[in-house]
Amino acid sequence: MSEKNSLSVYNKKRDFKKTPEPSAQKISHEFANKKSIFVVHKHHASHLHWDLRLEIDGVLKSWAVPKEPPIEPNTKRLAIRVEDHPLSYATFEGTIPEGNYGAGTVEIWDSGEFTLEKSTPKELLVEFFGKKLSGKYVLINTSGKNWLFFKRKGN
Ligand code: MN
Repeated sequence: MSEKNSLSVYNKKRDFKKTPEPSAQKISHEFANKKSIFVVHKHHASHLHWDLRLEIDGVLKSWAVPKEPPIEPNTKRLAIRVEDHPLSYATFEGTIPEGNYGAGTVEIWDSGEFTLEKSTPKELLVEFFGKKLSGKYVLINTSGKNWLFFKRKGN
């Protein structure tokens, strides 16, 4: 992915004087000695969606999922790749004020650890150890920013 490790898009979209979200410069030490972490934010923006974020290469690779993430196998969800977020975003909850990028309330829907079984530009195989997301999942790039996200059968 060409925007690998870049948090400049994240910063550009936000005015940190106006939003309570963390800036990308804010270095978080709280995850330093942990396994890879994931978080799913439920984001009550103009359109309700869920933001899936996976710690990969020192940032939170992020996807916007328009429908609730599946907890049963084979319910396929569209997941739209969005800009990388800083690791410190993993614990963020709050309300982004009107007029700012992503205005609305952000709450943690699920979080925990995950392992990455396979990572190619077109496919990620992950196993989640969360409360809601638990077991083996896949993300498949179908075209451009569009991915399919679903739980694999047999787990
Ligand atoms: Mn969002």
